[in-house]
This record gives sequence, structure tokens and C-alpha cells, in this order.
Amino acid sequence: MTTNGIGCPLCKGRMSLGRTDVTFRRGRSVVVVESIPALVCENCGEASIDTAASKAAYEIAEREIARGAALEFCTYAA
Ligand SMILES: [Zn+2]
Repeated sequence: MTTNGIGCPLCKGRMSLGRTDVTFRRGRSVVVVESIPALVCENCGEASIDTAASKAAYEIAEREIARGAALEFCTYAA
């Protein structure tokens, strides 16, 4: 992951490495995957997650949803 030349899509602010949370909903299941590595805008807080990290987060959420979780908080582990 690199910050080279990447500006915030919303405000063009500087993006730096940070962490963010993503919420997945499927029917009545809600899964929050926390601490996903991301580029976070230093100005407005907009987060940009790369494809690999977002796919991994989605797989974590899918697993919890398949288990029948109603509301689950998971920590992303690379
Ligand atoms: Zn921004």
C-alpha cells in the first residue's frame, strides 16, 4: 500500500495510513469489521480501503453472517 500521489476523493486532502471500520448488513445480520488497514484522509476522515483488505473484511463478515450472527464485532487480522 502506498500514499504516493493519492488524494482524498472528497476533499483532495492528504491520505495517510490508518485504520477504519466497515459495517456489513445482510437481512437482519449486522457485522462490523474493525481496524481494517486503510488510507484515511487527514482532513475529513474519508477512508479508502484497498481491494485485498476489503475482500478479506468481506470474507470475515460472510463467515459471521453464515453463522447466523445478529450483531457481531470482529477485528480485522491481516
Ligand atoms: Zn478528505
